Amino acid sequence: MYRPVNHGYIEVVVGPMYSGKSEELIRRLKRAKIAKQNIIVFKPHIDDRYSKKDVVSHSGDSIEAIPIKETSSIYDLIDEDVQVVGIDEVQFFDEEIVDIAVDLANKGVRVIAAGLDMDFKGEPFGPTPRLLAVAEFVDKIQAICSVCGQPATRSQRLIDGKPAKYDDPIIQVGAVESYEARCRKCHVVK
Ligand code: ADP
Ligand code: ZN
Repeated sequence: MYRPVNHGYIEVVVGPMYSGKSEELIRRLKRAKIAKQNIIVFKPHIDDRYSKKDVVSHSGDSIEAIPIKETSSIYDLIDEDVQVVGIDEVQFFDEEIVDIAVDLANKGVRVIAAGLDMDFKGEPFGPTPRLLAVAEFVDKIQAICSVCGQPATRSQRLIDGKPAKYDDPIIQVGAVESYEARCRKCHVVK
């Protein structure tokens, strides 16, 4: 995507699980690398889906990333000459990530964040809504609904194959938890 500006700004890529957020983030970052830009990529420490050190998409593409435990530690890791900062799974950071993104953009950095806009209940997820509000560029992308094949905008949480209830605990001991992409019509929260 061509950005006709050469000062700092924030781009956000949101959508449900499997919509290709990581793929898109990786694509943009690799292009920045081709342009010989100085990039650095962060992800929350909790997301170790495939790799502790990389951002990895469901289709297998990857880019090196630094897992972050304490949001403010991002500042210690950014050199003066960094031009592009990538952030994956931004919904799992605390609210401070928004202030950091704004601050970096004000200093001339291109910040590209990707993450879930909604949780499994279909409600705004963590710091994402505020980040969407302050971003210059927002892309909402869709997955394919695993029930009807239409564009999917929501993440369906399943526990032992059945739709999770609104109040189901985050971790259910002994239960098999899974997620699939669904459209508004097929998304179920009991
Ligand atoms: P996200 O970061 O949004 O979870 P990824 O970039 O990791 O998504 O993965 C996107 C890839 O997932 C797609 O290119 C496709 O190969 C695969 N995929 C698996 N299930 C689906 C689905 N229901 N809809 C779209 N893509 C899917
Ligand atoms: Zn559907």
